[in-house]
Amino acid sequence: MCLSTLTLAGPAQAGQETGRAKGEATATVVDSTRHGGRTLALTFDDGPDPTDTPRLLKVLRKHHVKAVFCLWGDHVRQHPELVRAIVRGGHTLCNHTMSHDDMGTWSPEEVRADLEATNAEIHQAVPGVPVRYFRAPYGSWGRTPQVAAELGMQPLGWRLAVGDWEPPGTDELVRRVVEGVTPGAVVLMHDGGGDRDQTVAAVDRIVPLLRAEGWRFDRPARRA
Ligand SMILES: [Zn+2]
Repeated sequence: MCLSTLTLAGPAQAGQETGRAKGEATATVVDSTRHGGRTLALTFDDGPDPTDTPRLLKVLRKHHVKAVFCLWGDHVRQHPELVRAIVRGGHTLCNHTMSHDDMGTWSPEEVRADLEATNAEIHQAVPGVPVRYFRAPYGSWGRTPQVAAELGMQPLGWRLAVGDWEPPGTDELVRRVVEGVTPGAVVLMHDGGGDRDQTVAAVDRIVPLLRAEGWRFDRPARRA
C-alpha cells in the first residue's frame, strides 16, 4: 500500500524561507488549528473516491463538521462531480499532487509543474475555487513547501495520523483518535486510495464522542 511509509507523527519541518507570495501562504508546514485550545481539524487524503467520499460527505453533513480534502489530480479528473460536492459541502480543498509521487528529490520546476497541473484539474471541475493548502505525498516535503507558498498554498502537515491506510478496525480507529488527539491538532485520515469504509464509520462515532468531551472542530491554521 502506497501509504505505508507514512510515519505516525507529522514532520516537524519548518521552512526557513519567509517570502510571502499571493494568498499570504508561507513555506512553513502547518500542523495546528486556527484557534488552538480544545480544537482539532480533520483532513482527508487521496480522494476523491466514488464510494467513500460521498459517504464521508454525508457523515460530515450530518454532524455539521467542515473538513479539508487533499485531492489527487488524477482522481479529480476521473470524478469532477465529487469535487463539486466537496465544495458545495463547504469544505476546504488541498492540492495533494497529480499522482501521489514522492517529490522528495524533485526540482522546484518539476514540483511547480505538477502542482499547477493538479490545480488546473481542480479548476476544471470547479472554476475559480480556492485551493488553500498543499500536502506532500508521504510527508516527503523536499522543495515543495516554497513552491506551494509561491502558488498561494500553505503546506499542510499533521500531528496525528491514525494509520487508516492499513484498516485496523473501526473501534481501533476511534480509539486512536479519541486517545491520541491533542489540543490544536491537525488529524490525518483518508477517504481515497483504498477501502475507507472503516474511516467513514469511525468519523461518524468520533465527532459526537469528542464533542461530548468539549472538543470543537476547526480548520487548520492558514499560515504558521
Ligand atoms: Zn496521500
